[in-house]
Amino acid sequence: MARIVQPDAAGIAEAVDALRRGEVIGLPTETVYGLAADATNDTAVRRIFSVKGRPETHPLIVHVAEAIELANLTTEVTPLTRALTQTFWPGPLTVIVRANQKVSRAVTGGRDTVAVRCPAHPVAHAVIHALGCPVAAPSANRFGAVSPTTATHVVVDLGNDIDIVLDGGECEIGLESTIIDCTSDSLEVLRPGAVTVEQLHTLTATLSDSSEQRVSDGTASESRAPGMMQSHYAPRARLVLHEPGDHFDTDGAPVLDFSGDLSTAAHTLYARLRALDASHIALAHVIVPPPGGLGQAIRDRLTKAAAGG
Ligand code: AMP
Ligand code: MG
Repeated sequence: MARIVQPDAAGIAEAVDALRRGEVIGLPTETVYGLAADATNDTAVRRIFSVKGRPETHPLIVHVAEAIELANLTTEVTPLTRALTQTFWPGPLTVIVRANQKVSRAVTGGRDTVAVRCPAHPVAHAVIHALGCPVAAPSANRFGAVSPTTATHVVVDLGNDIDIVLDGGECEIGLESTIIDCTSDSLEVLRPGAVTVEQLHTLTATLSDSSEQRVSDGTASESRAPGMMQSHYAPRARLVLHEPGDHFDTDGAPVLDFSGDLSTAAHTLYARLRALDASHIALAHVIVPPPGGLGQAIRDRLTKAAAGG
């Protein structure tokens, strides 16, 4: 059974040693907990897929300690990509760029593009910095299930398959990163997150020769973003979604209201979905937030969670 390890100097050293040996570990970030392995070790990367039960064609996000390391992974850092990373890194933004030859195709699912993020969590930073190379990490849960936002969530899901989970407390944001395809002149949001479409519009509007037309948040297709499935983040409980202000009959089922403060809604979302299953609830009503800002990402996750169950 996995141990929860405190992230003091000894704990960080133990985690780094495990990664050097090719093991996978539970790693806290500000978005959700990751299932991390040395991104340059193909055997270790393959172990991520087998522990999660994730198809090997669903690419992983490569996490770097410093923004400057993006240049080691891609053929070219475009001005638009540089503006994005300068503005939002370290933080909850993943950029998809053209991969250079050094990037393992085990990480990219065989593609010539790679997803890269520089996390803002001090424990993630300390581990990746001490390891001295990037870390590949999807969320530390079984494929298709609810993401973990505490070390205990990781142990509950994957405790039999990994040895250690570094304890970084509750993830501050609680939702996976915003993913942006940066491989063309316009930015396409493949997954909404805490870096919002509004923030992206504001940034592109400040760049020369640009217009708001440069950001699109089209629904990502399976070919563009493999693994963006219709059902994802799903608890066993069936979720019935409602807009704020809708009238509905609860029939005695619990009501989860995410239409209040958006940061709190995101921060508590996955713990509340997990709590439904822990108390063997079969059906719950969910009030979704309005679509603006962080509300878009929360609605995206709840829609996918409701498509499972
Ligand atoms: P997760 O690891 O669960 O946070 O999911 C990462 C997601 O990022 C994948 O499921 C893909 O949808 C997306 N992704 C990662 N790398 C790429 C890439 N090279 N091209 C397109 N999408 C990617
Ligand atoms: Mg995930």
